[in-house]
Parts: sequence; structure tokens; C-alpha cells
Amino acid sequence: MILIVDDTPENLISLKKVLEKHDFEVDTASSGEEALKKVLKNSYVLIILDVQMPGMDGFEVAEAISGYSKAKDTAIIFLSAANTEFRFIAKGYSSGGLDYITKPVDINILLLKVKTFYRIYDQNRKLNEMQKSLIEEIEFRKEAERKKDEFISIASHELKTPLTSVKGYVQLLERSAKKGDHVTVQKHLEKAQLQLEKLNNLIADLLDISKIESGKLKFNKQDFQIDTLIDNVIEIMHQSNPEFTIIKKGSAHCSIYGDEMRIEQVIVNFLTNAIKYSPGTDTIELQVSVKDDQLYIGVKDSGIGMLPEQLNHVFDKFYRVEETSQRFQGLGIGLYISAEIIRRHGGQIGVNSEYGKGSTFYFFMPINLQTDSSL
Ligand code: ADP
Repeated sequence: MILIVDDTPENLISLKKVLEKHDFEVDTASSGEEALKKVLKNSYVLIILDVQMPGMDGFEVAEAISGYSKAKDTAIIFLSAANTEFRFIAKGYSSGGLDYITKPVDINILLLKVKTFYRIYDQNRKLNEMQKSLIEEIEFRKEAERKKDEFISIASHELKTPLTSVKGYVQLLERSAKKGDHVTVQKHLEKAQLQLEKLNNLIADLLDISKIESGKLKFNKQDFQIDTLIDNVIEIMHQSNPEFTIIKKGSAHCSIYGDEMRIEQVIVNFLTNAIKYSPGTDTIELQVSVKDDQLYIGVKDSGIGMLPEQLNHVFDKFYRVEETSQRFQGLGIGLYISAEIIRRHGGQIGVNSEYGKGSTFYFFMPINLQTDSSL
């Protein structure tokens, strides 16, 4: 929009008419004071400012405007009948104006100038937008780089822990084997195996991440019995966590079309987290139901829970709740992978949680949708 500032009403009206005829939006002010008020309220591309006005003159208005952040991109053209001497023109420029026109105004010249200022304004706006998005992109990349570095350091640590244990058990094994102590050998072997299993799972998760990134996470979908899968998972989880009771609530006597191992991976991930993030408790609930051709599976714990703002991020890659990340080991990728698996089965994943009270991680999925595995 253009603001014309002139104390002579005829000048205002005639200029306004001409500019409006050329499709410019025009506002007017009949004094410097009124112009300043309007500039505070509105954004103008250009101000056409009469130099000679009672009260504040055009130069004073321009000087005041140059201090307004709202008008930092606004151009000013001074209009003056009398003061055509060089010193006045110079004053006009130094007060923040970008051009100077003497009256009587050659309307064609003025229109050319107005169009040029609009073009410059538009180019500036585009440049500013580009600069803003470039800065955002740089910040985003910096943050991604930081997260990656942090992840590499956590991942190395997580991989080293079971590896160090395995090394220790192998040394103990060697000693016990030399002594012919078969009972102890068996004990150390089992422990080493458990650590190797941990290592294997960690590496499998890391590989899944890179497969998701490159779009190569493949699914082997076929019909399977969900109830049987759940019972098996509960049994396995109970063996490795005998201190926890997993109570199954409800059932689903139906077959599901999907990748059984991947769905098992999601349920195991929910249960492992439920156990990990619920110290001092001993019961987890696994809820199963089928409604309107949708399977629902929920894992409810009475653990540490989460705050609402943390819930929005739990399915993000590498996300770990900051306050508890030192207390519990993890890579922050299990739920990200789970979300991808459920998405690729045409389902929905979610969580309800209350800080200090516990969480329920759940997913819904269609029971017999033959989804395209290349989704
Ligand atoms: P990890 O457990 O390896 O850190 P996940 O992707 O499985 O990675 O989980 C991401 C984060 O979500 C965890 O670091 C934890 O902060 C939070 N979280 C997951 N499950 C629970 C739960 N049952 N209770 C409380 N917090 C949880």
C-alpha cells in the first residue's frame, strides 16, 4: 500500500485517483503527525511525502519514520515545489528518502518510480524470505548433525556394554573350562548368550533404521493368528523378566494379515519399555480386542509416565526423555521403528500417559487388509 502525505487536499485527491487508476492501493494523511500514526499501525511499501507542511515538515517525518522497525523496508519519495536547491535535495536523501521529485509532478515519471519501488520491495521481500528459510535450513541441519553425533556416542556406548560383558564371560568360561567345572561353564555360557542376544537386537534396530531411511524395510506379510503370537510373546517376556507378571486382558480369535515377526517386534518393544520404565512395579497389562475389523493392542504400565509435551515426540527418531535418559539405557529408536511398522500395516500407533502414574502404548490395525507391502 502507498501512503500519500500532503496538507493540500486537492493534491492528495488527484494523486490518489491517478495511483488507484493504476491498481495501487492508496492511503492518505494530511499532516506529518497523522502520517506517523498511520505508519505505526499499517505497513506501507512506499510513502509519497510532501516536504512543506505546517507542523512537522516532510524531512522531520522521514527522520522519525526511519527509526520505526515497522517501516524499515518502506521507501520514501519527497515531493517539493520550492526547495529544489541541492542542499534540500541532499537533506531529503539523508533523512531516509530514496527519491526526490519536484512539483509540478510529471505523473508518468512518478508512476515509473512507484512501479520500480514496488518491484524492489517485492525483490527484497523474496530475498528476506529466502534468507529466512536458508537460516532455518542451516539450523535444522545443525540440529540434525548434533543429534547424529549424540546418537553415535550413545550407540557406541550401548554396543560396548554387552560386548564388554561377553568378553568378561568368555574369560570366565575359559577358566572354568580349564578346571572342568561344567556347571559354571553352563552358567557363564547362558549369561554370555543373553548379552549376545542384546547386542544382536541393538544391531538389528540400527539396521532397521538405515533400511527405513533408504526405503528398504521389507515386509513378509501373510495370515497369522494374533492370539497365539501374543501368548508366545508373554511367555518369552516372562522368561527373561520373571519378576514381572504380564496380565493378558481380552483376546482376538482371528487371523491377521501382516508380517508376524514385525508385529511381534512392536509388542515386544512396548513390553520391554513398560518393564524398563516401571521400576519398583511388578505388573504389566496387555490389552487385546477386536472391534469393527480393527485389532487393538495396548500395553499398560504403572511406571514413570511422561509429560504431555514429551508424548508428542516419543515416536520421533532418536528421541529420549531428557530427564530420564541417564537413568535408563536406550537408543531412542525402538518406538520410531514400531511406528513405521504399524504405519506400513495401515494402522495407527499412540500413547496415553500420566507423569508419575504410568503409560499405555497402543496400536490399531485392520485385521484383514491386504495392504501393499511397498507402502
Ligand atoms: P529407548 O527406550 O531405547 O530409549 P524408545 O524409542 O523405545 O527408545 O523410547 C523412546 C523414549 O520414550 C524413551 O527413551 C523413554 O523416554 C520414553 N518411553 C518409552 N516407553 C515408555 C514407557 N512405557 N514409560 C515411560 N517412558 C517411556
